[in-house]
Amino acid sequence: MTASRTVRADVLVVGGGMAGAMAALSARAAGCEVALVRRAPGATALSSGAVGVAPDLSALPGDPLSWRRGPVESARRLARQRPGHPYAAVGEGLVLLPDALDFAVRALDPLLAPMLERPRFLATPTGEVVAAATCQRAAEPGDLLAVAGPLAVAGLRGHLGFDAALVADGLGRHAGRGGPEVRELEVDLPGLDPWARPHELARALEPPGEAERLGERLRAALANGARGAAAVLLPPVLGLSPAARVPERVAAAAGVPVAETLSDVPSVPGLRLQAALEARLARAGVTVLAGELRAAGGAPGDRVEVGEAAILAGSWVLATGRFLGGGLVRHGALAERAMGLPVEAAEGRDAGVHLSGRPATSLTVRDRRAPQPLLSAGLRVDPSLRPLDGRGRPVHPRLFAAGALVGGHEHASDGSGLGVAILTGWLAGRAAAARG
Ligand SMILES: Cc1cc2nc3c(=O)[nH]c(=O)nc-3n(C[C@H](O)[C@H](O)[C@H](O)COP(=O)(O)OP(=O)(O)OC[C@H]3O[C@@H](n4cnc5c(N)ncnc54)[C@H](O)[C@@H]3O)c2cc1C
Repeated sequence: MTASRTVRADVLVVGGGMAGAMAALSARAAGCEVALVRRAPGATALSSGAVGVAPDLSALPGDPLSWRRGPVESARRLARQRPGHPYAAVGEGLVLLPDALDFAVRALDPLLAPMLERPRFLATPTGEVVAAATCQRAAEPGDLLAVAGPLAVAGLRGHLGFDAALVADGLGRHAGRGGPEVRELEVDLPGLDPWARPHELARALEPPGEAERLGERLRAALANGARGAAAVLLPPVLGLSPAARVPERVAAAAGVPVAETLSDVPSVPGLRLQAALEARLARAGVTVLAGELRAAGGAPGDRVEVGEAAILAGSWVLATGRFLGGGLVRHGALAERAMGLPVEAAEGRDAGVHLSGRPATSLTVRDRRAPQPLLSAGLRVDPSLRPLDGRGRPVHPRLFAAGALVGGHEHASDGSGLGVAILTGWLAGRAAAARG
């Protein structure tokens, strides 16, 4: 296709998830013209509503929740214990983690709750408790250490996607560890479509009167079955747009703070986060282009075509994600898709890790909390986040990588997904913006 326009920028960011958005916004904050190319939503749009930075690896299951180390201290420990982790790879850059997190919270205001010294303890839809660095404001009043009295878990009668009894049972197990006493109740919401998908329910609560109707029903249910509840946990469908203020409106009508649990997929909080990133990029004046960058053999400074635009930029940040985002592909061999860069997995380093001849059971580890060699594959980088070639040298002085594309971490086992995306995105954007 012949380009119908040319976009000139200082920095080209490839990828529109958390890492790409942070890179674009930090380069923009440093005064650069920034173009961002993205193909589609990736893992960020599936995330649960929690911002995982690092778990306290030394925490024991029975310990009081208040003993958990804070996310920044846990990230330092993670870097020491896992030398291949991006928190270790960035070296001194890890000191800037609090600044990067603060930048993200402010950039996305009012979506995210402010950071605390301690983790927030948040319920999943299966009643597990996740310790996260922060979360969306819609989940904040459900932080188990912040609930000042009994917590009610409310299901919507006929809504098949949320089992309040399961959640209440799981959370109740933490009552002796500093968590609240937990009760379960059901709210009757006439007209609720039992087959409605989460985003449809979330949208249905946004128009005037709808959140209030849920709040009034909740108030009645509380009076019958959970008098004295200090907060209520609801399914993760409290509006798609933070501007609709669904949690606040439900709470005002119910007379008690309400929160949503974290989500599994499809995730309303994930969609909310993705929408907030895109709105912020537009407000910041980043030129966002839809399309896929294919630049095998190319390098920063080259003219590349994406859709109908040609882009010229002196620095590039690759933030193309992993398997869900499309940064890595596996067709027998594991490969980096946009530029054909070398991929590293725990099996070793190769220009394409060849997996086709190996039994599937050798690629993953049965313990789901253990590091998974296949799932933590990605690029190896230097402390400036420049991808390295097979000999350990930067591929190009003005090429940077960020987010899930950087190897050595995996959210399901180390809980650092969005934390890595925020820190490496923010650092890569600054590095790409620096002249010379
Ligand atoms: C189901 C699920 C739930 C999760 N929940 C959480 C959670 O609750 N908390 C947490 O901290 N972490 C969570 N994680 C991990 C976290 O979501 C990811 O680590 C993080 O979102 C990665 O962000 P990213 O920007 O690097 O990649 P992505 O969000 O995957 O973005 C990649 C982007 O690159 C684009 N792209 C790819 N190739 C190209 C190309 N060639 N040209 C143009 N664009 C391209 C994609 O279209 C996409 O826009 C979860 C992950 C999953 C899968």
